[in-house]
Amino acid sequence: MKPLKIAMIAAECIPYVKTGGLADVVGVLPRFLRQLGHEVIVILPRYAAIDYVRHGLKPLMAQMGVWMGNVQEWCAVHYAENEGTPVYFIEFNKYFNRFGLYHDANFNDYQDNPYRFSFLTRAGLQLCKDLGFAPDIVHAHDWHTALAAAYLKIWHWNDPQLGKAASALTIHNIAYQGSYSADCYNYLGLQWANFTADKFEDHGRINFLKGGIVYSDVVNTVSPTYANETRTPAGGYGLAPYLNNKGDNYWGILNGCDYEHWDPAIDTLIPARYSAADLSGKAICKRRLQERMGLEADASIPIIGVVSRFAAQKGLDLLAGAMESILADMRVQFAVLGSGEKSLETFYGQIPGRYPGRVGSYIGYNEELAHWIEAGCDFFIMPSLYEPCGLNQMYSLRYGTLPIVRATGGLDDTVQQYDEASGAGTGFKFWEPSARAIYYTVGWAVSTFYDRPHHIQQMIQAAMAQDYSWEKSAQAYQALYERALAVKG
Ligand code: ADP
Repeated sequence: MKPLKIAMIAAECIPYVKTGGLADVVGVLPRFLRQLGHEVIVILPRYAAIDYVRHGLKPLMAQMGVWMGNVQEWCAVHYAENEGTPVYFIEFNKYFNRFGLYHDANFNDYQDNPYRFSFLTRAGLQLCKDLGFAPDIVHAHDWHTALAAAYLKIWHWNDPQLGKAASALTIHNIAYQGSYSADCYNYLGLQWANFTADKFEDHGRINFLKGGIVYSDVVNTVSPTYANETRTPAGGYGLAPYLNNKGDNYWGILNGCDYEHWDPAIDTLIPARYSAADLSGKAICKRRLQERMGLEADASIPIIGVVSRFAAQKGLDLLAGAMESILADMRVQFAVLGSGEKSLETFYGQIPGRYPGRVGSYIGYNEELAHWIEAGCDFFIMPSLYEPCGLNQMYSLRYGTLPIVRATGGLDDTVQQYDEASGAGTGFKFWEPSARAIYYTVGWAVSTFYDRPHHIQQMIQAAMAQDYSWEKSAQAYQALYERALAVKG
């Protein structure tokens, strides 16, 4: 395949800003696409939360004009390199000079989000023009930049720089669609003739993701099972018909796992390194985790880990409903890391006090502790109601920490069910989204730990041998781009 020029426009990207898996994809995929010979640039907002000095940002353009409807906005552009990938930061203080990405400290969404992210999207396209970068592919991510394809087709179809660009849209989570009052529609500059039910209009509002799906040449999501789920009424959150309209031009590509940062053989954040051939370091990680989280330091007790956003999607209210019965009936420990919904922060923040030595928790975001939990636990639980791809179960597999998961989305695609007869499999899966199902599946895992330790060892070996590398994902994205070019024609 001939080398492509690819412009990615996104709201998050590691190592600069991250709230979820989207940031991992935008931060890592470009590097692997470049290894396949493609040229990639990434365009992000310059949020106040981005550390200018630490990340080596430099001013690039003092003034760039961006048309929004009938208004011309003037922004600045800064530049940095992320492991060799050029990254451009759109500075527009009115919209991005805030610490939150999408909401304030009280989790109230910023009222001007549709203005902020449509501006980012148009600024990204304008920047391509101003840089003289004529992309073959404009790759948008989630609702924030989904309108890129619409802008290409409505405004730039005949443009010397942008006219030949095909568009790809990756949906990382279909529950977040960017649905807003049509008051912002003039500013978006999408023309009222397009405010129709087959394009942007949705229950009288503007729906960014819907418009992006309709206009993009290809659309993907982040696992094959999630692609199937989103094609159904319940899983599609209202957008299933539009995804089904894409036919063969919508499918699932599993995210890669960043094994450079998440591999116990080279992880510098954990107390000791280990591999499938020599697991002695994992025992050290377990003891140090027990000490750090106030758990009884006993290697014979299995620890179940949680690292998660506390959001309804993650099913942690169901786990909360099962946890005390599990603690009453089973000799087991929990290590919980997360933040988000206040009621769950309260529950998980307080439960160690009621079960001293048996439950440890840290409410907040802590990268190092996330690595310690992956390394030091025996099991890792993800009872998600839905999970587009999920990264933590892939990390868990590589760390030999057996996942206990609800069989949905990427969790179903990456975890193989334990077979009690042969000891095959890499984890424990359940289907029913209930506290009861969690209780019994945890019970199954814990009894396997005590009664069939040879199976646990066999599963650890199988889990650590799984390969969800970015090389494979990047090749799948290359195929997506090829399809986009064919659709664009
Ligand atoms: P999502 O994107 O829905 O949050 P993923 O499993 O795809 O879920 O990605 C979550 C990422 O965020 C993982 O890298 C995980 O380790 C990290 N993470 C989530 N919560 C925390 C936390 N409280 N502290 C540290 N890392 C976290």
